[in-house]
Amino acid sequence: MAKKIDKFSYKKKSAWDVFNKVQIKKIFTFTDEYKSFLNNAKTEREAIKEIKKYANKFNKKIYLNKNSCAAIIVKGEKSISEGLRIVISHVDSPRLDLKQVPLFEDSDSNIALFETHYYGGIKKFQWLTIPLSLHGIIIKKDGSKIHFSIGENEKDPVFQVPDILPHLSHEIQDTKKMNEAIKGESLDIIIGSIPVKDAEKDKIKKAILKKLNDDYGIIEEDFISAELEAVPAFKARDIGFDNSLIGSYGQDDRSSVFCSLKSIIELKKPKYTAISLFVDKEEIGSEGTTSAQSASFLRSIIKDIDPKADIDSVMLKSKVISADVDAAITPNYTEVFELKNSASLGYGVTMSKFTGHGGKYSANDASAEYVSEIRTLLNKMKIPWQTGELGKVDKGGGGTVAKYYSRLGMEVIDLGPPVMSMHSPFEVTSKVDIYSAYLAYKSFQEN
Ligand code: MN
Ligand code: MN
Repeated sequence: MAKKIDKFSYKKKSAWDVFNKVQIKKIFTFTDEYKSFLNNAKTEREAIKEIKKYANKFNKKIYLNKNSCAAIIVKGEKSISEGLRIVISHVDSPRLDLKQVPLFEDSDSNIALFETHYYGGIKKFQWLTIPLSLHGIIIKKDGSKIHFSIGENEKDPVFQVPDILPHLSHEIQDTKKMNEAIKGESLDIIIGSIPVKDAEKDKIKKAILKKLNDDYGIIEEDFISAELEAVPAFKARDIGFDNSLIGSYGQDDRSSVFCSLKSIIELKKPKYTAISLFVDKEEIGSEGTTSAQSASFLRSIIKDIDPKADIDSVMLKSKVISADVDAAITPNYTEVFELKNSASLGYGVTMSKFTGHGGKYSANDASAEYVSEIRTLLNKMKIPWQTGELGKVDKGGGGTVAKYYSRLGMEVIDLGPPVMSMHSPFEVTSKVDIYSAYLAYKSFQEN
């Protein structure tokens, strides 16, 4: 008789049972550092700045592509004509970007606000009423650059997208479809309310402009050449009585960013040349010069390592981990997951053979041979791992940068920590999964 299959039988063990006491202590220290990294890297530019700091501190070769894309390289024993070992993650996360002409005053409510356009896939209601901080740069008329970060220190003010009280929301929100109840155009951020005395109209807007000019020397037109992002102002925290989970903004995908950063800076002399590559714009389809679709950066790195390298042949022999998060089975919403194939928090790093949606459309589908190679490595190194998929067939789906690298001829597989409440202002991961991801990237780059 066939063995009765328990619905969780594909999972070996809770990762908490795999690690011993000493290792678990190490995991908590590791994730404390991870939380500081998250707090210091609230935007793609800030993430690259942190990566640069680590590279300098640990004396590692770093290549920069503009301000939001970078790569750290550790040369291997073999020539790069034998291929590279690349771990690629993305530094951008969903957020609210300011529009080009953002500042206006609402004369009915007597509030000054910033217009925004959301970046990436968000559930709009999650971004209302929470404290937001403002990060980014403004390039002034004279070309000088101002770095902004307001709302992170206790004494800083924060910003907020207002919501209507429940007493009045019946008609305009409660009886509507969830994805129609909040309009993208209504995601305006409150920035002030004190008027100037001697003006006819736009009294608050004028006061804000005066304050910004006094503090930073900026004029209204300067917002046109700016990149300002509103992100959750709160810090990364432990979740649960047992402190097992981490709640934070930006864990998609700065969890993988941190783990692949820690892996590469600790690498001494690997067999193959190892690269941790950090790209931008994944959340908006990997478009643009700093994204995974722009391969020139990687080509130029290969040329720099070995000017005589046959780039196509190097790529054909290279192996890649697309280090990105996967969906964790979520309590109360289990019906959208096919439980045998989905990932749970606390069961280790998640391997996805394919991504995409309905009919594997637009997916990188890793070969059985490459899956076997990664599976064997994880088992050999006793790293907790599990399979993952982004929901039941035809329920939705999503992609990663994997397909852009497999197009270049490289073997690619998705491997990253599972995340609950993904793309929300406070995403949840498990400490053991973060650590398992770090161990996985390290073993991959070392071997
Ligand atoms: Mn991601
Ligand atoms: Mn994402």
